[in-house]
Amino acid sequence: MESIDVLVAGAGPTGLTMACELRRYGLKVRVVDPAPRTTEHSKALVVHARTREVFEAMGLRAAVEAEAQALMAVQLYFEKQLLGTLDVKRFGPDVPTPVFLDQSATERILAEHLGRLGGAVERGLRLLSFRDEGSQVVATIGGEDGRTETVTARWLVGCDGAHSVVRRGLSLPFEGSAYEDMFDQADLKIRWDRPPGVGYGFLRSAGLVVFAPLPRDRYRIIAMGGEGHAPEPTLEMFQKLADELVPGAVLHDPEWILRFRLHHRMVPRMAVGSVFLAGDAAHIHSPAGGQGMNTGIQDAFNLAWKLAMVARGAAKPELLATYDAERLPVAKQTLELTDRLFRGATSRRTMVLRKLIVGTVLRSRALQQRLVRRMSQTGVSYRRSTAVLDARRWPRPSPQAGERAPAATLSAGDTTISLHALVASEAKLTLLLMHGSSRSPALTSAGQELAERWGRSLVVRDLVLGTGDAETLGDRSGAVVRGWRVRAPELVLLRPDGHIAVRAPLARLEVLRAYAARWF
Ligand SMILES: Cc1cc2nc3c(=O)[nH]c(=O)nc-3n(C[C@H](O)[C@H](O)[C@H](O)COP(=O)(O)OP(=O)(O)OC[C@H]3O[C@@H](n4cnc5c(N)ncnc54)[C@H](O)[C@@H]3O)c2cc1C
Repeated sequence: MESIDVLVAGAGPTGLTMACELRRYGLKVRVVDPAPRTTEHSKALVVHARTREVFEAMGLRAAVEAEAQALMAVQLYFEKQLLGTLDVKRFGPDVPTPVFLDQSATERILAEHLGRLGGAVERGLRLLSFRDEGSQVVATIGGEDGRTETVTARWLVGCDGAHSVVRRGLSLPFEGSAYEDMFDQADLKIRWDRPPGVGYGFLRSAGLVVFAPLPRDRYRIIAMGGEGHAPEPTLEMFQKLADELVPGAVLHDPEWILRFRLHHRMVPRMAVGSVFLAGDAAHIHSPAGGQGMNTGIQDAFNLAWKLAMVARGAAKPELLATYDAERLPVAKQTLELTDRLFRGATSRRTMVLRKLIVGTVLRSRALQQRLVRRMSQTGVSYRRSTAVLDARRWPRPSPQAGERAPAATLSAGDTTISLHALVASEAKLTLLLMHGSSRSPALTSAGQELAERWGRSLVVRDLVLGTGDAETLGDRSGAVVRGWRVRAPELVLLRPDGHIAVRAPLARLEVLRAYAARWF
């Protein structure tokens, strides 16, 4: 029986991202999913800025954005009174904004990408059980016809959704509870004379109602909490809501109408031995803020490069323990954020307070930008992780080790490349030698020393302010050298997921040596 590197259970957005990344890094992967095809439903809509960046690193940004609907503005109402407009376009390029795309399209794009990488989802097959033997996992998979197969893999990743077999196999509790309120949702078209790309939020004593713009001239209407008294959601129920909130609008061509009860739950650990959990298998919460799919994709993006490096002997197996250490706190914060948003949206007791809060946010551009950043997941930091190391504290707004490197476009010979695509291109860390405006021979020789010793685990790239050349990356706009306040030659070690592993001035080269000795 041939042994593989990774068995991925589940091919939703999390499992597909995991499989794509592992294939891209050249690992032997199998992905099984009992579903006959990718989802037909729109489900998760919001592709947040950090996920857009991940898609860019995966080479998928253009494909996703060709089909997505950009968000132009959000109008907020208190009952029927317009409180104000959040003009997303006016935030400028530095503020990370989302786009909207049906989950069915996101999954299709990921599945096609997996095919181009030489992988495929084995459909009609589910994970039935598994046994972690320490150095390998022995799993049983099977189909509807009752036939089973034994698969031996070095690692098993459970991306098998809220009812995860992997989670149950690990005997991990799914701690949390269900919300009392129901959630009604409809994807449909609306005949009205409002501009495209604008979302609407109506704060009502009967609960929040949202109109979110979807691609192909559709809208999703979400009624949180208040409409649960109707026997089941229908087009007529949503039309009545529209008559009350946006008189004259005619709803038609409903694609999907449903009601569901929400839960907020998470596991106490996202890894046990050689088995990992990612996405909804590890955490579920309210869709308020559109965090669910995005968090699962980030889980996969955090774990894939670690598995690839360890599989190749380019990093010590201890690196894998940092997956749980880094992602569990993010899952916890996401549950807290979505819980606050959902309770704020559905509580019937705090209307005056909610009006006050919304009014304050609408008046403050700084608050709006903070909120957008928080939801975008670009502010996720692994600062407390053992897999990051800072030589010192850096003056703000300079990024610290553990934080995500701010987006930047670099020149490389005749072409340009995004910093995030550059660092994700190999299952190695990228050591940027930050020369500033003039080259530092001492920095070059420090880079050579590290490349000779640790070339299996890192690639060294010189970065200069200006245009660079075929060998040297150029920072024409100064987004990195000036943006990070680089005043003296510096070494920056970047992880394939775009987070800063180490940041040290040349004078503290020993910090890099210590990091490499610990992890490589
Ligand atoms: C009705 C609905 C509306 C939603 N709306 C939103 C929204 O607006 N915004 C948002 O952010 N999120 C939303 N979500 C949540 C979002 O869809 C999930 O967070 C996202 O799908 C999680 O992706 P995942 O890959 O982790 O899990 P899933 O998408 O659940 O994928 C899990 C996969 O595992 C497979 N599987 C199950 N058992 C096994 C097994 N034993 N072996 C192998 N494979 C198995 C399943 O067939 C499935 O394909 C919604 C979800 C639902 C159900």
